[in-house]
Amino acid sequence: MTDRALVVITGASSGIGAAAARAFSAAGHPLLLLARRADRLAALGLPRARTAAVDVTDTAAVAAHLAAAEEEFGPTDLLINNAGLMSLAPVEELPAAHVQRMFDVNCVAPIQLARLVLPAMRARRGGTVMNIGSIAGATLYGDHTVYCGTKFALHAMTEGLRREMAPYDVRVLLISPGMVDTELLGSTGPGAVLDGYLDYKRSIGGGLAPEDIAAAMLHAYRLPQHLSLRQAVLAPTAQD
Ligand code: NDP
Repeated sequence: MTDRALVVITGASSGIGAAAARAFSAAGHPLLLLARRADRLAALGLPRARTAAVDVTDTAAVAAHLAAAEEEFGPTDLLINNAGLMSLAPVEELPAAHVQRMFDVNCVAPIQLARLVLPAMRARRGGTVMNIGSIAGATLYGDHTVYCGTKFALHAMTEGLRREMAPYDVRVLLISPGMVDTELLGSTGPGAVLDGYLDYKRSIGGGLAPEDIAAAMLHAYRLPQHLSLRQAVLAPTAQD
């Protein structure tokens, strides 16, 4: 790990991903930033940052951008699987497309993208994959059934992958935020479910700032390679 090593961040156009992009850039890293909204990626205006408007479920497109970034900056030393969707509703009311989409973006894409970088990391016995899970990947919440399902699955796969990579000194980390003030609620339509979520958030004094999570992500990465901060849960102190 060096300050000049390439860091790849999915979902860098807003929230936690954008904060992480700023934090890792300030620490000196070249970046590959991926999300669908090109304007939001460009607006970050970070030096030595390639941006690509891609859907993370399009593994071939991500692979092409990864190859171009590695050509310019060298091998990926950190992949942050941060892109995610949260559509909250009782299961019967959740649009079928949202069920599929949450699994594709929150679970399948992180594994497919990890498969792009792991062979080289394993070969050189270094590198880190950091998956952004959730407090909802270990606890069930009302109207979160499918979202929790995606994050429980991601947590399980992260731990499985960690065990697979341990013999090769490749770190696989899980950062699990609690409530953070971002655009994540945009996938949940207006109504009682959204109101209840916002009421609870107000009752605990609001969510964390995305920068709170980004600082922890940078800390976990900057620990020496032999030291793996396997899992961290970062939530507002008042959150139950
Ligand atoms: P935001 O909605 O602000 O950010 C989500 C990011 O994911 C956006 O940059 C979005 O970019 C990107 N994204 C979504 N779908 C796709 C896709 N198909 N392809 C590429 N990029 C995509 O929310 P957060 O910052 O809060 O979310 C980041 C992560 O943190 C998620 O995994 C979320 O589950 C997790 N998390 C968040 C919590 C919170 O309270 N906010 C709590 C626990 C976990 P674009 O739309 O431009 O494609």
